[in-house]
Amino acid sequence: MLKKLVIASNNEGKLREIQQLLAPLNIEVMPQSVFNITEAEEPHCTFIENALAKARHASLHSSLPALADDSGICVDALQGNPGVHSARYGGEPKSDEKNNQTLLNALENETNRAAYYYCAIVLVRSHDDPQPLIAEGIWKGEILIAARGNGGFGYDPLFLDVKLGKTGAELSPQYKNQISHRGQALQHLIEKMKVLQP
Ligand code: IMP
Repeated sequence: MLKKLVIASNNEGKLREIQQLLAPLNIEVMPQSVFNITEAEEPHCTFIENALAKARHASLHSSLPALADDSGICVDALQGNPGVHSARYGGEPKSDEKNNQTLLNALENETNRAAYYYCAIVLVRSHDDPQPLIAEGIWKGEILIAARGNGGFGYDPLFLDVKLGKTGAELSPQYKNQISHRGQALQHLIEKMKVLQP
């Protein structure tokens, strides 16, 4: 099992969740900001390719194994958008508030509110690792017509888990991590890490 890992993200919400999920593994986990690593380009049209690009970038600049998440929200009535463009849906500079308002506007008068969060997680042992570990997770729900809750980050106040009757922003961090797209992807990744050779 790995001893040290850099997380290829500067997103506070993601970092918090990933660090919490990896805590039981006894791995020293560092955000890429520790190495002054800036955000990698995300030019690809798939989450997996973007996650891989971020992981390779962070590993190259830290000389450590790196873990990256690329995620987003995919809305049925918007043909899967904003998808890989979720972080900047409301334009530059990116902001959760602008993203959420843009999503509400796009769904104005729309009755089909079905959506899901998707997460791809990639782990590379070196920047040129020929066998990256890749795992995915999906969390299904619906987009509300107004925000609810103060927790989580990003689209969480608008994202309703229909079975629970709560938004992502109304769940405790621990519970969100148990059921979310990121939580599921990381659990799958951890299973794969257990068979990883040092
Ligand atoms: P990226 O993976 O850095 O390109 O950004 C993913 C974007 O998707 C975030 O900035 C959020 O807008 C959204 N997102 C991904 N996961 C979550 C989540 O768990 N809650 C809320 N928004 C999320």
